[in-house]
Amino acid sequence: MTIRYDGKVAIVTGAGQGLGRCHAIALAARGAKVVVNDLGGSKDGVGASSEAARGVVAEIKAAGGEAIANGANVANYDEVEAMVQQAMDEWGRIDILINNAGILRDKSFTKGSIEDFKLVVDVHLMGTVNCTKACWDIMRDQAYGRIVVTSSSSGLYGNFGQSNYGAAKMAVIGLMNTLVQEGAKYNIRVNALAPTAGTRMTEGLLPQAAFDLLTPETVTPAVLFLVGEDAPNRTILAAGAGSFAVSRILETESVWLPLDEQTPEGIAAHWEQIIDPDGERELTAGFEQSMKMIGKAAEGLGIK
Ligand code: NAD
Repeated sequence: MTIRYDGKVAIVTGAGQGLGRCHAIALAARGAKVVVNDLGGSKDGVGASSEAARGVVAEIKAAGGEAIANGANVANYDEVEAMVQQAMDEWGRIDILINNAGILRDKSFTKGSIEDFKLVVDVHLMGTVNCTKACWDIMRDQAYGRIVVTSSSSGLYGNFGQSNYGAAKMAVIGLMNTLVQEGAKYNIRVNALAPTAGTRMTEGLLPQAAFDLLTPETVTPAVLFLVGEDAPNRTILAAGAGSFAVSRILETESVWLPLDEQTPEGIAAHWEQIIDPDGERELTAGFEQSMKMIGKAAEGLGIK
């Protein structure tokens, strides 16, 4: 089975270099028409240049593909709307959105400023919200959409010095969890990528031999899979150096405590039971937690 994107239009944000560039080139090589978006600033989000996006478009065209460059700042909704309009004017549809653009402002929580925190959230979370919102109704009307949000192990598990980045990277998982529910009947599927790659973001952090294993080309197949016709839905796919894994949020079975034990001391007394992984599972919607706990309480209280 070959996964191709003939006739499909894709937007890849932050595609002037690194992972986004690799995603854009691979999509185009498999038939997609691609909007190569990039603001072209520094790693910490300063400045702008359209050079990188135009370079990637030239590479795609040289290989026989179709692409257009766009310099929108994903954190600015007006610019994002104009980008989506540009794609619609050019090709009349948008099938695939890969939210990839990102910056870093790494500092310990003590040393980091509120301004840095807001900027990182603005680019990663609001950038993803802006691009997704601007494409959403188009995908609904088409009854087809494949969206990827780019998360990070930093958001899923934490990383020293990355409270701003980690918060934003976990927030896009929250966004995905609700969008899969709202998009299901319109054939819109939303998934998350948690990559690890050797790019300017990770330059100098790893020994060269490890950096060399973590090429963007070893991650891009995960994105291609997540935006295919038969893509999964609501999957957090981790990828790096040619390895692929799925990350899940699990909840333990839950323990109902009688009224006189619904106290912090009661929780302490039953702690081993509460954290027991036996019976833990992934819930598919928030109300499942409520239903589970209502069920436990009804059972405990003998209510039919
Ligand atoms: P990169 O710095 O090489 O590429 C990011 C691109 O996004 C840059 O070209 C930059 O100009 C662009 N960009 C930044 N702000 C933008 C904005 N406001 N609007 C439009 N474009 C903007 O980094 P990368 O490593 O390729 O990262 C790509 C994505 O993967 C990011 O979301 C990053 O957080 C995520 N990620 C990367 C790693 C890794 O190991 N490299 C790990 C986890 C997550």
